[in-house]
Amino acid sequence: MTTEMNENKEGKKPLNFIESIIEDDIKAEKHQQIYTRFPPEPNGYLHIGHAKSICLNFGLSENYKGKCNLRFDDTNPVKEDVEYVESIKEDIKWLGFNWEDEVKFTSDYFDRLYEFAVKLIKSGNAYVCELNPEQIREYRGTPKEPGKESPWRNRDVTESVKLFAGMKNGDFEEGKYLLRAKIDMTSPNMHMRDPILYRIRFANHHRTGDTWKIYPMYDFAHGQSDYFEGITHSVCTLEFEVHRPLYDWFIDKLADSDYRPQQIEFARLNLTYTVMSKRKLLELVEKKYVSGWDDPRMPTISAFRRRGYTAESIRNFSDKVGIARRNGFIDVSLLEHSIREDLNKKANRVMGVLNPLKVVIDNYPEDGEEYLDAVNNPEDESRGKRKVPFSKELYIEQEDFMENPPRKFFRLGIDREVRLRYAYFIKCTHVVKDVEGKITEVHCTYDPASKGGKSPDGRKVKGTLHWVSVKHAIKSEVRLYDRLFTVENPQADKEKDFKEFINKDSLKVIENAMLEPHLKNIKAGEQLQFERMGYFCVDKDSTTDKLVFNRTVTLRDSWAKVKGK
Ligand code: ATP
Ligand code: MG
Repeated sequence: MTTEMNENKEGKKPLNFIESIIEDDIKAEKHQQIYTRFPPEPNGYLHIGHAKSICLNFGLSENYKGKCNLRFDDTNPVKEDVEYVESIKEDIKWLGFNWEDEVKFTSDYFDRLYEFAVKLIKSGNAYVCELNPEQIREYRGTPKEPGKESPWRNRDVTESVKLFAGMKNGDFEEGKYLLRAKIDMTSPNMHMRDPILYRIRFANHHRTGDTWKIYPMYDFAHGQSDYFEGITHSVCTLEFEVHRPLYDWFIDKLADSDYRPQQIEFARLNLTYTVMSKRKLLELVEKKYVSGWDDPRMPTISAFRRRGYTAESIRNFSDKVGIARRNGFIDVSLLEHSIREDLNKKANRVMGVLNPLKVVIDNYPEDGEEYLDAVNNPEDESRGKRKVPFSKELYIEQEDFMENPPRKFFRLGIDREVRLRYAYFIKCTHVVKDVEGKITEVHCTYDPASKGGKSPDGRKVKGTLHWVSVKHAIKSEVRLYDRLFTVENPQADKEKDFKEFINKDSLKVIENAMLEPHLKNIKAGEQLQFERMGYFCVDKDSTTDKLVFNRTVTLRDSWAKVKGK
């Protein structure tokens, strides 16, 4: 995806093309103040694509000391719900943005839209039509062939006014009548071929209840809502470019001044290894492929939050991907990079063993116990140190031990020496196995002179392992996530259902991870790095008896120089 930018005059900060338009408008004194809006439909939870649009719209208003509305485009009562309204508000606040005044709803404008529709009928620009959906399709024509005019197109104006009032009052069943704009059935732009403005719908609306029996189409409501609110720059995604002439047509019929909201289109954010349409995400939720909208594998803002992503990392990501005019895909690894970058500074380090293997230090005193200094964050000295208990029996990762390791395996093996982080050098002497031949204990000796993990005589070890003392360890559940889909674009093959590409191994639950006791005091929302294993946070499923952790993201680099694996 290419990002189109212009240098501004001072040559300091590159402007994206939307900022260039706005700066030109400011210079031309076109508006007193910049006014943008974020207009979600409350029919699902927000995803990372919406986050892009939020950062853009709210960001522009912040940068240019303007205003930004949150407006719910609630024109389709069948799919909308207050649960979604609440979640959307929460997500926007969490991202760090505030909307102007109270929240706006398109449904607040239902009366004004209705009045405008009546005005269109009276001025000969709209009519009540009786074609059924199949006929509408047939009369519409195709992009290559012109459409045909509806036989109801020249219906008497007073009759249309009367029928439209009847539609509003619930006098007719659903589907009996439609209100359509009278524009041009031969227009090369299909959206101009007498588009539908209103449909009869006996649906309960989450805000207006049963008041309305007719609902405006999105295309009829959207541009006018911008107009009613005094929006100066109406930023939307590319698919609405072809709708723009229609929006302009409506506003020309409505406006009594020169003021027009200016629509500017940019490319949708698409991310690899996921899907981003709310309809598809809803399907994953309803068919229980995931545990809910905030399942940490989902691309929703609530899922990222639960998984341990910070608002800052998402805002930085949004900044980095820039604003494009052509559709393309952004590699999910860019998002992962953003969160690593942020957590590297913020997260304290701790030790946690995900797949424990017991190590016995044979030359350590039977009841010995000592507390060793461990650094909380090597990136930030002010975070200080903590004490980590050490004893005769420890856990290390199963994958850090091999009975017969290849030469390039730099972790523990028989007769090999490694460093235990912040503790001692240990050397493996032998292993104990169960009847099935599975290793149950790795026996080692330690070098008391290497306390703190420092070499006593200049001798080097290649591997450094994390560990947890057996008798001090706290047991917890750890959830590891992989990408939800096995292919970059699960929607690329139109012949196939996107669900065929779901990654069956996208969630791995570890029941008995062993963590250093320091973690007993962890607070909800605190982010940590389990050394070598990634960044983690406490999940909302945690109870007083059992901590549950999510892995936010793996570490790209680990300090054990593991090669030849
Ligand atoms: P979806 O197709 O995911 O259901 P939508 O466009 O129907 O999304 P809306 O609630 O209408 O969802 O979106 C609110 C705003 O967010 C719109 O202005 C829309 O253009 C923008 N938006 C939606 N998806 C993306 C995306 N992937 N990238 C950038 N902006 C987006
Ligand atoms: Mg939409």
